[in-house]
Amino acid sequence: MAYEHIVDKDRCKGCGLCVAICPKNVLELSREVNTKGYFPVFRARPEDCIYCSMCCIMCPDVAITITEDADSSAA
Ligand code: SF4
Ligand code: SF4
Repeated sequence: MAYEHIVDKDRCKGCGLCVAICPKNVLELSREVNTKGYFPVFRARPEDCIYCSMCCIMCPDVAITITEDADSSAA
């Protein structure tokens, strides 16, 4: 089963909690600001993600979601 990891960069306030909690060091803060003027998180190393959902649980602004990949579930 495949999963999709989505960062809503305009909800993110760049607090870095998810970056700190990620056990695989997948996430980093961007150098470009979002619409709120924050530096949002992005997946710098998506190939290392194990979809553990720690980042989703940690985010106080619900900016990260993990969903089942629609294409793989249809197969
Ligand atoms: S799901 Fe887990 S491994 Fe993937 S970015 Fe979030 S904390 Fe890191
Ligand atoms: S925990 Fe949420 S608000 Fe904080 S940097 Fe991560 S995605 Fe952005």
